[in-house]
Amino acid sequence: MPPFKLLLLPGDGIGPEVMAEVRRLIAHLEQKKLAAFAFEEGLVGGCAYDAHGMAITEETMQKAHAADAVIFGAVGGPKWDKVPYDVRPEAGLLRLRKELGLFANLRPAVCYPALADASSLKRELVDGLDIMILRELTGGVYFGEPKTITDLGNGQKRAIDTQVYDTYEIERISRVAFELAKKRRNKVTSMEKRNVMKTGVLWHEVIEAVHAREFPEVTLEHMLADAGGMQLVRNPKQFDVIVTDNLFGDMLSDVAAMMTGSLGMLPSASLGEVDAKTKKRKALYEPVHGSAPDIAGQGKANPIAMLASFGMALRYSFNMGPVADALDAAIARVLARGLRTADIATVGGKAVSTEEMGKAVVGEM
Ligand code: NAD
Repeated sequence: MPPFKLLLLPGDGIGPEVMAEVRRLIAHLEQKKLAAFAFEEGLVGGCAYDAHGMAITEETMQKAHAADAVIFGAVGGPKWDKVPYDVRPEAGLLRLRKELGLFANLRPAVCYPALADASSLKRELVDGLDIMILRELTGGVYFGEPKTITDLGNGQKRAIDTQVYDTYEIERISRVAFELAKKRRNKVTSMEKRNVMKTGVLWHEVIEAVHAREFPEVTLEHMLADAGGMQLVRNPKQFDVIVTDNLFGDMLSDVAAMMTGSLGMLPSASLGEVDAKTKKRKALYEPVHGSAPDIAGQGKANPIAMLASFGMALRYSFNMGPVADALDAAIARVLARGLRTADIATVGGKAVSTEEMGKAVVGEM
């Protein structure tokens, strides 16, 4: 087997600290001869701006195109708050998502039994929770044109964002949703606002058509996104895969995040189309959290979100489901043993460092 090609982009703040634990995991997998990786590293975000005056260089973009998977840490921080909009740290991530065509954002919300009491919801609502929020990532109101602020000349300004979706964009995200559901509990819940938005009407119509034509064996239900948000905190275990647009997905996945205890526990994957020639998807894996400038450089960051993101790469890019399962089980056992970083520690409980947590997870594997 040729080695899997990885591009590691640690980024800013706690990004490099949690990425160090991915390197530890990679070394372990190689030492156990479970996989071989060829990896390169690059700069993205504020550190790339400092070095090159831009959030990501052409050279790094080319490496990202050539990689089987991009493993991304986090970008941003107060140091770069005043840099020009086009080269702000987040522009690096947006460019990667756009140019790699990463239209499907997978955000699992899994509540480990050992952490159920850290959730803002009651234990019985979240204990054993395992849902997948699938967010459309390259369309909708974050990218639609026109996107302007106009001075109306009378002391008023007008801001416009445009919510726009084409049929093909809804078709391809719904296919990912149905495929995921088939490997899980076979149920998709689609969320939109067809009562007040034309994009919601089309979203509903296209998903219905794809379902009837290609995936009739999967259960499909529809919810208005506001009602869906309510159901998510009322009875989250009713869901399996939730598919929704860019804006609603941004919000609903953050709501789901709080059920699992901490931002430091949440992985994500962003996938592109299957390449007709190579049969591979472009893919980027990253924790949901940002660069956490408040704890950066202190060895306090929880590396589990980053490690679990790498676990998603094993599952979705490298077809190594059993190894990904072993990683998930190792994380669950470490938590059950009572090991906690500061973000998930109980009041007065001892907190371990980023490195100690990474070593414990790899040790459990
Ligand atoms: P954040 O996710 O960085 O931090 C929010 C809070 O959660 C902080 O208190 C932080 O200490 C804590 N936290 C986050 N990850 C943690 C971890 N692994 N372990 C322990 N605690 C953790 O969000 P923010 O504070 O709103 O943003 C900080 C910077 O990150 C900003 O510049 C923002 O633009 C950027 N950001 C980047 C991304 C990304 O790279 N994808 C995502 C969100 C925010």
